[in-house]
Amino acid sequence: MKEVTKYLRKKVLVLGLAKSGVTAASLLHKLGAFVTVNDKKPIAENPEAQELVEQGIKVICGDHPIELLDEGFELIVKNPGIPYTIPLVEGALEKGIPVITEVELAYQISEAPFIGITGTNGKTTTTTIIFDMLNAGNKNPLIAGNIGTVASGVAEKARKENVIVIELSSFQLMGIEEFRPHIAVLTNLYDAHLDYHGTKAEYAKAKGAIGKSQTEDDYFVYNADQPDVFELAKQSKAVLVPFSTQKAVEGGAYIEDGYMCFKGEKVIALSDVVLPGKHNQENILAAIAVSKLSGVPNEAIHKILTTFTGVRHRLQFVAEIGKRVFYNDSKATNILSAAAALNSFEKPTILLAGGLDRGNEFDELKPALKNVKALITFGQTAPKLERVAKEAGITAIKRVDNVEAAVPAAFELSEEGDCILLSPACASWDQYKTFEVRGDMFMEAVHRLK
Ligand code: ADP
Repeated sequence: MKEVTKYLRKKVLVLGLAKSGVTAASLLHKLGAFVTVNDKKPIAENPEAQELVEQGIKVICGDHPIELLDEGFELIVKNPGIPYTIPLVEGALEKGIPVITEVELAYQISEAPFIGITGTNGKTTTTTIIFDMLNAGNKNPLIAGNIGTVASGVAEKARKENVIVIELSSFQLMGIEEFRPHIAVLTNLYDAHLDYHGTKAEYAKAKGAIGKSQTEDDYFVYNADQPDVFELAKQSKAVLVPFSTQKAVEGGAYIEDGYMCFKGEKVIALSDVVLPGKHNQENILAAIAVSKLSGVPNEAIHKILTTFTGVRHRLQFVAEIGKRVFYNDSKATNILSAAAALNSFEKPTILLAGGLDRGNEFDELKPALKNVKALITFGQTAPKLERVAKEAGITAIKRVDNVEAAVPAAFELSEEGDCILLSPACASWDQYKTFEVRGDMFMEAVHRLK
């Protein structure tokens, strides 16, 4: 950890707990700040808050009282999930109190440089592939964000010879000031999270912030197939490094003559890459660009791409049973993701889908159903998905109670050479606590078929 003195005797409010709030609060306490923590959950149900009290940190639980603004805080570290529109945050901003997220704190204390990955889709996958490639190339990476540990916790332990590979949401990026990734990655930009950000322009601005402190010594790896992404990339002073699945982009990563290439060099034959999906080709090209910029040898890149079969619950290969392949894409909680998964397979596919009803009609899914020979539905949206499937000309449709029952039902309808795919196009909360639980149930049911 760097020697940081700027928080000494500073009055800091940590807003919102969860893992990141706890880590930030303890860290600031260690750095000599006067820390107050404020969390909505009552203290009796809040083990994290209790833990901080034991460390001697002042904790206020139950709501976000506006009176806190009178206590003279000089900085607020806000949990990314708390909106800027709550009165306490609005009041703080009006008073000119800086509001940052924990990622900014991580940057300020870290000895190690950062590789930051953002975008609407593909963050976790791209982050994981980059981490694995850097690892295989002996670059001492540490992973932070969604799949890893909290950024400031990782940054505390990081040394100069490490590099922190971090997945960044737009919510986190709204609270950065000096955060400067040596390599920034912007995978893509689709309409998402507009409920939080208001407009697409606001959302894009948050994503674009990843490059705002970069200099000519840094790199910005961006999706050259999306004009909106290019517009944002141009705002960074860093060296722009494009990737494209559609054209041979100069100075970047692309596909040509059956190879994934980087700056004119063939890195790996497409046929050697085991991870399916056109969308994953984008993620892989971004990862190749980052790895090559980081000096990872081709052998290390090759080793990962010939073995990496996907992040858990994200178009993850589960098993081959009776010449049928099973994929778990439980993370596909919206139509766009399920369509991406379906477009990844040429094989006849039996789709398992359904879940929480958010009012979608699923008509946009129709073009992606072209290889679907049968549909197994479950959950609240079952009738809606069945209607769309019928209109797409699918006749084999079966409704079951849940994912566990969907697996044997799918197997019964399948033939050798088929793909059996869980890609629900819906959130899981009508039946399962999380998409992870739903995916685990699927995988267990698949293994029971053996
Ligand atoms: P994130 O971390 O951004 O949510 P993930 O890597 O977890 O992204 O992937 C989530 C889902 O998004 C995947 O299951 C897949 O269906 C879809 N997806 C992944 N990468 C891309 C991409 N590059 N373009 C479009 N969709 C993608």
